[in-house]
Amino acid sequence: MISVEEALARLLAPLEALSAEQVSVADAVGRVLAEDVAARRTQPPFAVSAMDGYAVRAEDVARVPASLRIIAEIPAGAGFAGTICTGEAARIFTGAPLPAGADAIVIQEDTERDGDWVEVKEGAPKGRYVRRAGLDFAEGDVLLQAGCRLTPRHIGLAAAMNRPWLFVHRRPRVGILSTGDEIVMPGDPIGPHQIVSSNALALAAFVTACGGVPILVGNAPDDPDALRHIAAAAQGTDLFVTTGGVSVGEHDLVRDVLSEEGLAIDFWQIAMRPGKPLMVGRYRGVPMLGLPGNPVSTLVCSLLFLKPALEKLSGLPENSEPQAMARLGVALKQNDRRQDYLRARLQRAPDGALEVVPFEVQDSSMMRPLAASDCLVIRPPHAPALAAGSEVPIITFPGGALPL
Ligand code: AMP
Ligand code: MG
Repeated sequence: MISVEEALARLLAPLEALSAEQVSVADAVGRVLAEDVAARRTQPPFAVSAMDGYAVRAEDVARVPASLRIIAEIPAGAGFAGTICTGEAARIFTGAPLPAGADAIVIQEDTERDGDWVEVKEGAPKGRYVRRAGLDFAEGDVLLQAGCRLTPRHIGLAAAMNRPWLFVHRRPRVGILSTGDEIVMPGDPIGPHQIVSSNALALAAFVTACGGVPILVGNAPDDPDALRHIAAAAQGTDLFVTTGGVSVGEHDLVRDVLSEEGLAIDFWQIAMRPGKPLMVGRYRGVPMLGLPGNPVSTLVCSLLFLKPALEKLSGLPENSEPQAMARLGVALKQNDRRQDYLRARLQRAPDGALEVVPFEVQDSSMMRPLAASDCLVIRPPHAPALAAGSEVPIITFPGGALPL
């Protein structure tokens, strides 16, 4: 059995970011940039008014009240070819270009208009309510870096940079194969000794939430020929994920059968709970992750191994976030030699600290407590017994379908 850290390092080592493709900026949210992106436009491209009001020469309103003659009207999207000379002003609106000669905006609320004349009641120093050209960014500025996962904020910036197309990494295509004679998809006819499959759909949802494309290859019964046949469909994917059939029983066929079919196993079995029988290798050249069948093991291993693998394939840099910690709300027993991941709830203690309370029953088949969990408490191998109030490392389940 190898450690979780070593398993993760060995899983990730051979993975590389997928090739780039060009997508419309409209379709790019959640995608990872494959190249640095420079602005093709200065923003704002010219000095603009930040307010509705009057473009003036600051020196003309140094003493108020001051009466100025209105010689132009400049809405956003229009320009004024002339110049504002001493004693003159232009009616101007937010986003309109500042006319030549003017160097400040007097807001509408500080004026009174009378036909072609405006009386200014409050002065404005040079530059007041003027957004200078290039205030936000200049043409050629590199504002988005390769490896950035694009949020709606980045999409807005890219659009303002006049970048209608972006090069992003391909989304990882993930083949998902469940196994087991007892497994039936939700809604399908179900035999007397069968159960409803949850893994394949949970995994597909997980892959989607990580920005990948799930491909449900099917469910292989515990029969070598059927397994061979269905597994072949994983060719052409970027990552092949199976659930179940990788343990030590006679009906756990994945390792033996697929080894005859071009599976090269790197390692099998990790010193962790849940998820001990996890397998990593390459099936006909496609990186493969053999997840244990128990639904909690499947999803905990997905968080620990599948998510980082998808991130690396997607072109994201490796996560360097510091380990999150929380205060135990209950005491914990000493741990054995396997790294434990306890399903747990987070709550606010009366003093405002984040307090974590593991569920009492930690059975790897139980989906209800998993779904109700906020986080996993990490118990390293041989961790000592801990009293309530001790600090423990946790992994929170990431929230939200896409980063905002
Ligand atoms: P296995 O690793 O194939 O021995 O499966 C371990 C446990 O997980 C067994 O109780 C299986 O019935 C269960 N299991 C396997 N695959 C699924 C699945 N797709 N959905 C729900 N439970 C599963
Ligand atoms: Mg099985």
